[in-house]
Amino acid sequence: MKQYDYLIVGGGLFGATFAHLARKHGKTCLLIDKRPQLGGNLYCEEQHGICVHKYGAHIFHTSNKKVWDFVNALVPFNRYTNSPVALYEGTMYNLPFNMNTFYQMWGCKTPAEAEAKIAEQKQQVVDAMRAQGVTTPRNLEEQALCLVGRDIYEKLIKGYTEKQWGRPCTELPAFIIKRLPVRMVYDNNYFNDAYQGIPIGGYNKLTEALLDGIDCKVNEDFFARRDYWENLADKVVFTGPIDEYYHYCYGKLQYRTVRFEEEVHETPNFQGCALVNYTERSVPYTRIIEHKHFSSFGEEVYSNPRTVISKEFSTEWTEGSEPFYPINDEANTLLADKYRALAAQETKVIFGGRLAEYKYYDMAPVIEQVFNHPEVLSWA
Ligand code: UDP
Repeated sequence: MKQYDYLIVGGGLFGATFAHLARKHGKTCLLIDKRPQLGGNLYCEEQHGICVHKYGAHIFHTSNKKVWDFVNALVPFNRYTNSPVALYEGTMYNLPFNMNTFYQMWGCKTPAEAEAKIAEQKQQVVDAMRAQGVTTPRNLEEQALCLVGRDIYEKLIKGYTEKQWGRPCTELPAFIIKRLPVRMVYDNNYFNDAYQGIPIGGYNKLTEALLDGIDCKVNEDFFARRDYWENLADKVVFTGPIDEYYHYCYGKLQYRTVRFEEEVHETPNFQGCALVNYTERSVPYTRIIEHKHFSSFGEEVYSNPRTVISKEFSTEWTEGSEPFYPINDEANTLLADKYRALAAQETKVIFGGRLAEYKYYDMAPVIEQVFNHPEVLSWA
């Protein structure tokens, strides 16, 4: 008999949700994290009375009522609705691509006018694809051109995407851009989901509620004392990078990493919304986050005379920096598949979350993944 049923490596959303459910089912867990705090990339820090998303903007959104009820039972959520804007060469455009954007871009006032404009703009790429016997877009560029036409692609997608991913749009998979809705209605809500919001008091409240009653240790690196940690529990839940778990035996997976430059401004309202995307190539950052807008609305914004902003810079991951986004190109996908094949043979190790699955995950699907994990289902 070992001391714990589960050793959980990583205190992000997968690990914390797993620990929470395990405890509910009478299982014992020890959770370790190499960072000095828990919550993974959800971690927030209070600065000048403002809750700062230290690892970038996190907006919880889902259509899964079970997931929404689960998180709301732990901490109440506010009514934040994500409505970012894009700034391109001095002109603002609404996102996601909707009738407001089409009006700003082309002066189109009706859906019929916008549809005609997109049809006209995408004709060239459709013809080129047809000439090559291709019916479905092969990469992000073709996909974007087919969805919204050349003007929007050139002004709002190409520069932003190439800055974010550090690769040409022709080498990126089509699915990345399919995350963004295209709407023939005047609706700037970025998500199509039934529910969205941010925990009142910030994400640390959610982490604390998930980990209530769990033995946790921070500043502990699993790899520094692997045998010691593994001997403490019957099974390991590993949420770190899958290639590191296997000592990079097939080589290193690549990631994009994000770096933030925080600034405090002596103004109550810097940009009027939480997110402004800078979609042209020449601006070095991809977006500016103004944190107070995640939790204060309308006149409340003015109750604090200061504001905290973060400029977000996207760079290629290097040893020692935080891995953020898996790269979904062919080489990395094939490499990740080889590691996944190793993971599939494990009987005492559970791999979960963005880094261990090498998957571009939003928050709600991570929770769903825990709910539906065979290990979790086996406790029922
Ligand atoms: N995107 C874009 N222009 C924008 C916002 C997004 O071209 O102003 C593209 C970009 O390729 C990005 C993808 O849409 O990778 C998905 O955007 P989303 O906001 O979902 O990315 P997240 O910030 O959640 O990673």
